[in-house]
Amino acid sequence: MSGLDDLYREIILDHYRTPRNRGELDPPAVRVEGFNPLCGDEIVVYLAVTDGVVTDIKLTGQGCSISQASSSLMSAAVKGKSVDEARAVIGTFKDLMMGPSATEPTPSELRKLGELAALAGVVKFPVRIKCATLAWNTLTQALDETSN
Ligand code: ZN
Repeated sequence: MSGLDDLYREIILDHYRTPRNRGELDPPAVRVEGFNPLCGDEIVVYLAVTDGVVTDIKLTGQGCSISQASSSLMSAAVKGKSVDEARAVIGTFKDLMMGPSATEPTPSELRKLGELAALAGVVKFPVRIKCATLAWNTLTQALDETSN
C-alpha cells in the first residue's frame, strides 16, 4: 500500500462520512434521480443554474461508499463553475473511468483532477465503475434539463 493509495482512501472516506452539499433545493432548481441497480445506489441531484453558472447543487441519496463519496466529490468539483466548465470536468472524470488510458492516469491528468483523482483506483474494480459514475451521469442529465 503506497502513501498515495492511503491519501486517496482518506479522501474517499472523508467524503463518505462528511458528504458535501447534502440536502435539497426548491424549484426552479432541476431535480434528477439516478439509480444503479447493480449495487442499489441512489442519488438525487438538485441543480440550480443561473446565467450559465452552477450557482448551487445539493444531493440526497444512499448507497455504497464509492457512489456517495463520488457524488460528494462531484458536487464540490462543479459548484460555482460555469456549465461549460462543469461539462469539461464530467468529461475528464469519465475519461478517467472509461478512456483507453484509464488504468494509468498520467501525473498531469491527476493534477487536473485534484481530489477527484482519489477515485482513479476504482477502474481496477470494473463492477464499481457504475457506482463512481452514477452521480456524474445524473449531473449530465440535470445539466441537459436546465438548458431547455
Ligand atoms: Zn455502489
